[in-house]
Amino acid sequence: MELLPSGKVAACTAKHEGRVAVLRTNVNIAPPFDYETETPPEVPGDYCVAIWDTGATNTVIAATVAERLSLPQIGLIKCQTVNGERDSAVYLVSLFLPNRLCLPAVRVCEGDIFGADVLIGMDVIGSGDFAVTHYEGNTVMSFRIPSKKCIDFVVEEYAGTPRNDPCPCGSGKKYKQCCLQ
Ligand SMILES: [Zn+2]
Repeated sequence: MELLPSGKVAACTAKHEGRVAVLRTNVNIAPPFDYETETPPEVPGDYCVAIWDTGATNTVIAATVAERLSLPQIGLIKCQTVNGERDSAVYLVSLFLPNRLCLPAVRVCEGDIFGADVLIGMDVIGSGDFAVTHYEGNTVMSFRIPSKKCIDFVVEEYAGTPRNDPCPCGSGKKYKQCCLQ
């Protein structure tokens, strides 16, 4: 599923002072809208705390968020939880990430979240480019949708190594037969 209409590109960055153990940002949630026929709504004032979780398959919202926004339920899915399988409500929402990056219609399910109102899962993260860096000890998370290029630190660091030279990783093999592949 495309989360942004084709031709649109959007990005957001969250800079932290120091190193953080959990990637948290504020997000805003509102009912879904149609990018083709409606203008994006103003960013709703009431924000939620979101955790960006590469270990989560789907984006999840807490029941309190669905209740507060009176979101219409669009279905039920079976979810595995620590207490076994349970039915979880599914909603369609617009998700306002930092820098007013707005995804107009994201399917989210309801679940219990520890320490946040929203879990941003790989359904969102995986639809674009996502980077986490710790330059000079500060965590910076950046996200762009849709994906525009591959970031590869191996290529970046070993650039300029002749193909037939020993591989910089120390394997003893030629670069072309090792990390260049
Ligand atoms: Zn190598």
